[in-house]
Amino acid sequence: MTTLSQRLLMATCLLSPAAVAAQRCAAPAASYHVRWLGADRFGVEARFAVPTSRLALRFSEAIGRPEAQAASIDALEGWSGDAGAAVAYRGEGTWSSVTPLTRVRYEVVADHDAVEWTGGGIDEVASHFGDTYFFVGNAFFLHDADWPSCPIEIAFDLPEDWSILSPWPGGPRSFHASDVAHLEKNAFAMGRFTAGATDAGTMTLQWVLDERLASIAPVLVPMMTRLPPVFADYFGATPAERYAVVVFKGPRMDGGAFRESFTLTLADPVRAIDALVWTHGLAHEMLHLWLGNHVRGANPAEASWFTEGFTDYLAITLGYRAGLFEAPMLAQRLANVIRRVRLAPRLSPGVGLVEAGREKSDHWERIYGGGAMVALLIDAADHDGFVAALRDLVAHADAPVTQAGLLATLDAHTDGLGTRAFALVDAGGDFGAIIAWLGRAGVEVTGFSPDEVYVRFAGACEADACLPSFVRR
Ligand SMILES: [Zn+2]
Repeated sequence: MTTLSQRLLMATCLLSPAAVAAQRCAAPAASYHVRWLGADRFGVEARFAVPTSRLALRFSEAIGRPEAQAASIDALEGWSGDAGAAVAYRGEGTWSSVTPLTRVRYEVVADHDAVEWTGGGIDEVASHFGDTYFFVGNAFFLHDADWPSCPIEIAFDLPEDWSILSPWPGGPRSFHASDVAHLEKNAFAMGRFTAGATDAGTMTLQWVLDERLASIAPVLVPMMTRLPPVFADYFGATPAERYAVVVFKGPRMDGGAFRESFTLTLADPVRAIDALVWTHGLAHEMLHLWLGNHVRGANPAEASWFTEGFTDYLAITLGYRAGLFEAPMLAQRLANVIRRVRLAPRLSPGVGLVEAGREKSDHWERIYGGGAMVALLIDAADHDGFVAALRDLVAHADAPVTQAGLLATLDAHTDGLGTRAFALVDAGGDFGAIIAWLGRAGVEVTGFSPDEVYVRFAGACEADACLPSFVRR
């Protein structure tokens, strides 16, 4: 079983510079036409402006289905110009042809929920609930990941009373992904449902909720809708036009994170306390639209302390600001950040923040805890400077940022706090220094042994007005 946090770890947090590349493209790299055939089947006709001899779907493990997602592809035919071209299945979700293909036609059988997916849960593949079909793009669209970074068109020919939940801009029946990665690393849904929607600045959040979970809508929907306006206000700009969320009932709680979409499976009975976990996942992934997708590291792995750590930190502070939890939980979660920093040297001895990013799962506490700690230290000491630095990075994200450039921007707005906070955590995060630093900002920290940490806000008052100003709503 894969836990939500492991899944979020695996979800890639990088983006190609699609917006820039799209301007260089004379035509879409490919266009897909999707048709409902009835009886759990969809017909797909795809035309490739950039001919390809190799097509693929994602390949993840499932019990009793050795060919995984490829087993749901039927009646595949290919053409090269006007001539038919044989397409051979090569195993592990790949197909090839001797002559480059300009067109293919195939059917997708929506039977993915008949097996148990062990290489990532069902939330990362496809399922259907009621009259709604949910797919991840890479379980549906045969594609060539090496296509140039040019837009992909997707048109739907569906019954009139069907809706489409799309992570891609466009509509009502045709959409465009900015490149092949945005086509395949996104979730979408088709069927008879009424999508919920909320506007936040320039971004629309849309969701579809499994009717079997309708009883929790009064809790779930406000939690989802509170986040985007807080993020848009905080960063002063929104890099994505829309964000799609699919929530359905599954065997266990799990979450799948994609480029502009998020899937959530909830098991019956839904426990109130689990909302902390899934709203954190949703907040973390949505924040990657700004940090990780938009602001990118020149060396993405080595910038993980920033793209993952700052993202985790903001998921906490902005989650509190959005009203997802109250002050005692905020204190508990900040204590968890410090606890991770204290445990990191024991789990990843001698590994610095930059180096740790090369092996994220081995150095989890270093990356997520250490990066969040750097953010907490800067924010606590100079909140306005911290926000100004993040806004500066978001406003100038046209080129990837280097480690030196990142620290220079943080320093420029905070009188050098970026480098000082980074150095403190990079050197192992001396507990006494952290206690002193946060104490000056009204965050009282204590602890014993290497793994006990407690946080209390100065004055021991938990009303929002009593909190240190940098975390106040
Ligand atoms: Zn992440």
